[in-house]
Parts: sequence; structure tokens; C-alpha cells
Amino acid sequence: MQTISCDVCRKKVEDSITGRSFFYFAQFNVCEACKDNLEVQIKSTIRNKDPFSYDWYNKLVVDNLNKSVSRGR
Ligand SMILES: [Zn+2]
Repeated sequence: MQTISCDVCRKKVEDSITGRSFFYFAQFNVCEACKDNLEVQIKSTIRNKDPFSYDWYNKLVVDNLNKSVSRGR
């Protein structure tokens, strides 16, 4: 059994299923709850971004994760 801990909330996720209960963004391991949280945080920024690019999106995600990790949630 594989146990990974989330880099944002530090919660351990047992039997993690990548892409379903656990996600990887750059160097971060992110649990489902924190991923949902992140998406809520960046949703309005994404909506106003035109044109959209994945490089920009990835940077936005990593920037937000860095902030979340330093806040501890
Ligand atoms: Zn988490």
C-alpha cells in the first residue's frame, strides 16, 4: 500500500490513486480536497485570462501552491 502525504495540508492519503484521489503539480503532491480548493482560488483568474495558455496556467497553479504550502493549507 502506498501512502503519500499532501504538501499543502500535510494529510496522509492512503491507497492513493493518482489522478483520482491524488494529483501531482510540478514538485507538489496534492490531495483531492486541496486540489478543489486550488481550483476555486484560481477559477476567476482563469476566466479573465485571454488568450489562455497552458504555460501560464501551470505557472499560476505552481504559484498558488507555493502560497498554500507557505500558509500550511
Ligand atoms: Zn491536502
